[in-house]
Amino acid sequence: MATANPVNNLNMPGQCQFCGSMRQIAPVTFHRNIGMLVARQTKSLKGNFCKTCVKKNYWDFTAKNLLLGPWGMISLVVTPIYLVTNTVSYVSALQKLSGAVE
Ligand SMILES: [Zn+2]
Repeated sequence: MATANPVNNLNMPGQCQFCGSMRQIAPVTFHRNIGMLVARQTKSLKGNFCKTCVKKNYWDFTAKNLLLGPWGMISLVVTPIYLVTNTVSYVSALQKLSGAVE
């Protein structure tokens, strides 16, 4: 059996890199900022995920950005940018997965 490359087969079933099930997947990139007043930390998540995992991670990243993100000078600027770019990635992934079963 040939190994499917999920990156080149956007509308073909592939293996979700988050939950590991064979479903329709789409590439997403999410970022979140953790503000610590003087320091800050960035976490990102990138991969081909199924619809359920795209939604789950989007809300997880959004909640943590809002909760832990804007604590600091740079963080206050970076966090809204992440919220926007995450939403763009989320919306385009959902469009690709519009016919997928959840
Ligand atoms: Zn999944």
